[in-house]
Amino acid sequence: MCGVFGIHGHEEAANLAYLGLHALQHRGQESSGLVAGDKALRREVAMGLVSDVFDEKVLARLPGAAAIGHTRYSTSGSSELRNAQPFLFDYAGGSIAIAHNGNLVNIDELRSRLEAAGSIFQTTSDTEAIVHLMAKVPEFDPVVRLTHALRQVEGAYSLVILTDGKLIGVRDPHGFRPLVIGRLKDSYVLSSETSAFDLIEAEYIRDVEPGEIVVIDERGLSSHRVVATEPEPAQFCVFEHVYFARPDSLVNGKSVYRARERMGKRLAIEQPAEGDVVIAVPDSGVPAAIGYAAQSGIPFEMGLIRSHYVGRTFIEPQDSIRHFGVRLKLSPVRSVVDGKRVVVVDDSLVRGTTSRKIVKMLRAAGAREVHLRISAPPTTHPCFYGIDTPNRSELVAASHTVDEIARYVTCDSLGYLSHEGLMGAVGGSSATATGGGYCSACFTGNYPVPLGRRQNGALVPLRRTTV
Ligand code: AMP
Repeated sequence: MCGVFGIHGHEEAANLAYLGLHALQHRGQESSGLVAGDKALRREVAMGLVSDVFDEKVLARLPGAAAIGHTRYSTSGSSELRNAQPFLFDYAGGSIAIAHNGNLVNIDELRSRLEAAGSIFQTTSDTEAIVHLMAKVPEFDPVVRLTHALRQVEGAYSLVILTDGKLIGVRDPHGFRPLVIGRLKDSYVLSSETSAFDLIEAEYIRDVEPGEIVVIDERGLSSHRVVATEPEPAQFCVFEHVYFARPDSLVNGKSVYRARERMGKRLAIEQPAEGDVVIAVPDSGVPAAIGYAAQSGIPFEMGLIRSHYVGRTFIEPQDSIRHFGVRLKLSPVRSVVDGKRVVVVDDSLVRGTTSRKIVKMLRAAGAREVHLRISAPPTTHPCFYGIDTPNRSELVAASHTVDEIARYVTCDSLGYLSHEGLMGAVGGSSATATGGGYCSACFTGNYPVPLGRRQNGALVPLRRTTV
């Protein structure tokens, strides 16, 4: 859960990267950072939001025609300054800066191997291992070093790298996390989502392909492959469409808004409800609620108002803050819900604690009935590829039936979108060993990249490193 951005060949590189990070802020709020320069690179990173970390003075310390940036929410490595990205290192190949969205699943194995061979890690993040692996390759060309390094890592990575006057963008062979290419006059830009291009008025060109390395330098853009063999079947994260990406973005070539609206329409067909009003849990539930209302004919109204002055509270690592956060963030509109049978649409139900509080709040504001509809299937499995989900024991749907969850959240009825409904809404199929599609491991438990560490031929289960 991070946002990455890169720009090459623009005299305002750091300023534009800073703007780009603003449009990726929803992807992570723990730390923000930029590295900019030409051959010599400078780094500014700190804990906090983009607007807290950067001002005119800080940006003035980042001259140069290329820049990369990162907004972080940790899925591997703890939430502290030393793990804030982009990282900047000096090695035999010169200076290298790297920013990563994703999670490497064989990091324990890689790190033990590198440390046994003498590597000294400066962070607890999985990303650093990629640079250690690059440093060991006795080649001058950074792209050759990078391909050698990436062939040893497994899992999810969308990377932006600055080195040797080049901006490099990479997506892992499965394409779990997004990365898009844009053009701003004569410059190339890379971003997790197109929302950053819209802000800086760059034109979206295409997605970086799964397994592709794009190298941008003064000669333009060239394309290389992480592995020389046939591309693996694509396994783009379906949860980007369900919750994570911004609705004004295109991810995996598709409008996030329209995908969510279709999820809502299908949900209304699969899980109808007798209601007087459809309301959304804002912001992420809104497009699906609009779809639900359009399909069911029940009017849509704003029954919950979100305060924009508190961050995404789920995202706070500490339980105490998160639980208090729901009331701080959402408040019901009495004139919309009082005396009504209310259909509430949310994008996902993870622990169930948010929904339980929302149902309580709506009843306190006079709702006669509360029918909860979720525009995704039950979240039964944790993600190991870059989305922060709690451990399995905290996922309420991992151990409870729909009826039990309904009783826990105290709603009058509960309905989820089916897996087929979700795949239909995003226009794809679930990833299989043979065919491409979407990774929906959080809903099915089918993990496309084996989780674990090979030891004497056997797979040792992976330890989750999430905070
Ligand atoms: P919960 O109380 O754990 O059931 O939280 C569910 C709410 O958290 C839903 O409203 C989702 O929009 C939101 N949500 C789902 N997944 C995530 C995530 N990985 N990070 C932050 N928020 C999430």
